[in-house]
Amino acid sequence: MKKNEKIRITIEDIGVNGEGIGKIDGYTLFVKDALIGDTVEAIITKAKKNYGYAKMLNIIEPSPYRVPAECPVARQCGGCQIQELSYEAQLSFKAKKVYDNLVRIGGFAPDFLDTVMEPICGMEEPFHYRNKAQFPIGTDKNGNIVTGFYAGRTHQIIPNTECALGVEVNRDILQSIVDFMNENGVSAYDETTQKGLVRHVLIRYGFQTREIMVCLVMNGKKLPKSEKLVEKLSLIPGMTSVTYSVNQENTNVIMGNEIGILWGQGYITDYIGEIKYRISPLSFFQVNPVQTEKLYRLALEYADLTGRETVWDLYCGIGTISLFLAQKAKNVYGVEIVPQAIEDARSNALLNGISNAEFFVGKAEEVLPAYYENYAKTHGGEKAYADVIVVDPPRKGCDETLLRTMVEMQPERIVYVSCDSATLARDLKYLCENGYEVKRARALDQFPMTVHCETVCLLGKVGNRKPDTRVKISVETKELKIVKEEK
Ligand code: SAH
Repeated sequence: MKKNEKIRITIEDIGVNGEGIGKIDGYTLFVKDALIGDTVEAIITKAKKNYGYAKMLNIIEPSPYRVPAECPVARQCGGCQIQELSYEAQLSFKAKKVYDNLVRIGGFAPDFLDTVMEPICGMEEPFHYRNKAQFPIGTDKNGNIVTGFYAGRTHQIIPNTECALGVEVNRDILQSIVDFMNENGVSAYDETTQKGLVRHVLIRYGFQTREIMVCLVMNGKKLPKSEKLVEKLSLIPGMTSVTYSVNQENTNVIMGNEIGILWGQGYITDYIGEIKYRISPLSFFQVNPVQTEKLYRLALEYADLTGRETVWDLYCGIGTISLFLAQKAKNVYGVEIVPQAIEDARSNALLNGISNAEFFVGKAEEVLPAYYENYAKTHGGEKAYADVIVVDPPRKGCDETLLRTMVEMQPERIVYVSCDSATLARDLKYLCENGYEVKRARALDQFPMTVHCETVCLLGKVGNRKPDTRVKISVETKELKIVKEEK
């Protein structure tokens, strides 16, 4: 295979960035925009020894899973990766990926997984699910102010104010801001010269409360004629907070740390389930509130709380899962590495009148083992006890030191929430070699149109299986395998 060679290839898999993967005589090619099931003509753009990259020229035979893109700039924009794959096929692909990783890395028998895995939980409406959007502001070749999205892996702005993942009101807000800038001669920031004022617009929307926040990220501390902007934005129903963030650094980081209020209050409020959250421009908050609620409800169901339990929530972020669990447990202890997130967790607990949740700053793999050892020392050798331990680690999964302490503590149940099924499978293998077994597991789609997938898994001590929790895996989950077997 050489650069510029034209080839015909059938796509069999989806890569980590959503690209199509196919093979020609054992040589693997990554083809952007080609979908699983497509046969395409492509040109090789980069050829390495065992693999290469190719650009799709045309589709010879379209995949049965191919659908028209919802958004006209789906291919250029870096935001969505698999918008042209039907949503059912996206779900099947994700479920299969979790399943395959559990078999390949976790060493679980397919027959066993069929008894514990529940069908993937998708969205009824897989578009317009994001409650947060960040739009870059720039100037086009003709000097017009433009806003939209960066083309994949570049900083070239593709004009588009109607993102298929964002809420509809984004368009009106962006139009008001562009009009304000044009009418009042307010400049857009230029990354190459580092001149100009407005860099980005952050928009957050409360799905439950319908409150809207707009935050202008500026290369300066003052917005000229800001009252004219406020005049326009405050007319939009739901507008609650108009702020600015100062970012004068030459950096890819979007937000600056200094926040000022132009109109209204400095935050919006929203709910996940019954729990209320105060969200300021810099706060972390899950971007898909509909699926997040389902995820937390699933974690809560797996935790099976009666009100008497002691629960640890490791990697707790702003305490979202902890506060959810606290409603049904005796005590919850949250651990998180980012101090600001723990401050938010504590104020969210106060906001909701929750007094049985306590939060610790630190690495989960240090805080829990230290607590465990210290407890034994101060309690005459008695073991620290937990009924349930919940973990929700970043992609790299849990540190083995942490898994070891968890096993030593012998909780009745472990609920593992994972955003990477490969590290999940590795960690489950450890836990299952040390006295636990998987009782239930379910993949959940937090990010439709992207390749990401969450998984929630319940582990219990070996032998404590509840027979009524066996559910058959969905038929669709295995459907995509057919494509592979045909070859
Ligand atoms: N459970 C939360 C956040 C999960 S994301 C929610 O649902 O919103 C994973 C979190 O783990 C992040 O907040 C990250 O800051 C934190 N983290 C990363 N490494 C960690 C470590 N070693 N110990 C504790 N927390 C860590």
